[in-house]
Amino acid sequence: MIISTISSTATEGACEERISLMTRRLVVVGGNAGGLTAASQARYRVGPDELEIVAFERGNYASYSSCGIPFFVSDAIDDIDRLVVRTPDEFRDRQAIEVRIEHDVIAIDTARRVVTVVDRASSGGDEYEAPFDALVIATGAVPRRLDVPGAEGGGVFGVQTLDDGVRVRDYVHEVQPASAVIVGGGYIGLELAEALLHRGLSVTLVEAGPQPMSTLDPDMGELVADALRHAGAALVLSTTVSAVDRDSDGHVCGVVAGDATVAAELVVFGLGTHPNGELARLAGIAVGETGGIVTDRRMRTRTEGVWAAGDCVETLHLVSGRPVAVALGTHATKQGRVAGIDIAGGHAAFPGVLGTAVTRICDLEIGRTGLNAREAEQAGFEFETYSADATTRAGYLPNAEPIRTKFVIERAGGRVLGAQICGGRGAAKRIDTMAVAITRGVTVDELLVMDLGYAPPLAPTWDPLLVTARRAVDQRARAS
Ligand SMILES: Cc1cc2nc3c(=O)[nH]c(=O)nc-3n(C[C@H](O)[C@H](O)[C@H](O)COP(=O)(O)OP(=O)(O)OC[C@H]3O[C@@H](n4cnc5c(N)ncnc54)[C@H](O)[C@@H]3O)c2cc1C
Repeated sequence: MIISTISSTATEGACEERISLMTRRLVVVGGNAGGLTAASQARYRVGPDELEIVAFERGNYASYSSCGIPFFVSDAIDDIDRLVVRTPDEFRDRQAIEVRIEHDVIAIDTARRVVTVVDRASSGGDEYEAPFDALVIATGAVPRRLDVPGAEGGGVFGVQTLDDGVRVRDYVHEVQPASAVIVGGGYIGLELAEALLHRGLSVTLVEAGPQPMSTLDPDMGELVADALRHAGAALVLSTTVSAVDRDSDGHVCGVVAGDATVAAELVVFGLGTHPNGELARLAGIAVGETGGIVTDRRMRTRTEGVWAAGDCVETLHLVSGRPVAVALGTHATKQGRVAGIDIAGGHAAFPGVLGTAVTRICDLEIGRTGLNAREAEQAGFEFETYSADATTRAGYLPNAEPIRTKFVIERAGGRVLGAQICGGRGAAKRIDTMAVAITRGVTVDELLVMDLGYAPPLAPTWDPLLVTARRAVDQRARAS
């Protein structure tokens, strides 16, 4: 067991809690993917007699699917409970984990080993201290916002938590906006653009870059732009937003984009996120250059007895070797699992990320992993890019859809550094093959001879990945 033993007496709200000399206490700050996966893993290995687990969540919901928020906003899901994976009652009854929602942790004292909590559900907003032997910080990320006139106040949203999703949906129901502007072409903004189109709003995307989705190269982002236009969105590209206009009643009525004003009764920021590492930083817990909490592979921070997991941490990029903060649920749950195992005295490690992400924007499936061209350049690689168009299935089938795959290849040796995919149904999850290949340091020549499956309803004879690999190998051979 790695957690240290302390015996402590603490006052929590009205009732005084004494921690028995035998029971250690794990406190989790942030009640979603990273934090509650850590709690569940620790509980799986250590029973309640040995380890008390308390998780504090400032919002009204814990253990929810943020990724399902766009479907809630679009009304594809009308019951919010369907996005809640496990309720606090279920955590208590099934796992002996106490999840306190509407409890905001406002400070961490690592010397005294207490967190200061505000109980927002209490009438007076009671404040109390909760002791810990082990602490997991899983405070997530914060949506980036533009610091422009009019951006603060009603009708302007960043979306990270389920409460944020509820706020957007409530606003749509109450105000019945006819138009929306999405500021920034990050995937969360684009997923919300699709949701709002689905609800019949007129939607405009304003993006400072040449194409939406800067995690893709611009030529691949162009396909995303086409899909949005095809679904009815207007795009204003290479243009920055300088203000949010409000009418005399303070209601949002437009967004100033370049020289023009775009009508908008609702504004959503899709500018990406930054790690929510402020609570940790103020407590003297090391935060890195990305703003994310620094951990080792076992998700231990540099402060003894404190772990961190999820969007609030920075991690190693497995290709560039640099620290990155990539906010994805797939990382948060794996990191939480590692933290929980480590706290319980087991062995597990989180090696780092490739930034593998998939999404679907309107009718277009998108996947990316590893480095895109800009990232490869920033990381100092000499590289080439290759792309090819193919079909998702045998081309003679009526449901064969276009797919484009693009690889970033290290010039010397041909190692695959990154891959991007845009296409119809069945396109995006092909990126997982590339994630495995990149993880294993595969070259494009090795990829070309890999035994990928073929059957007409699922893939052409040459899988789209192999079509691009073949092009790369042929062109590299001709050039050498
Ligand atoms: C619309 C949307 C779609 C997404 N789609 C995908 C997807 O398809 N695939 C994917 O991999 N990822 C997706 N993500 C990202 C994924 O949801 C996050 O990476 C994941 O939720 C991160 O988990 P986390 O526990 O680190 O942070 P969060 O889920 O943000 O949870 C952190 C929690 O901590 C709470 N908190 C913060 N500070 C405090 C405090 N001081 N005291 C108490 N509580 C606090 C917050 O209220 C929050 O509930 C999506 C996110 C959004 C918003």
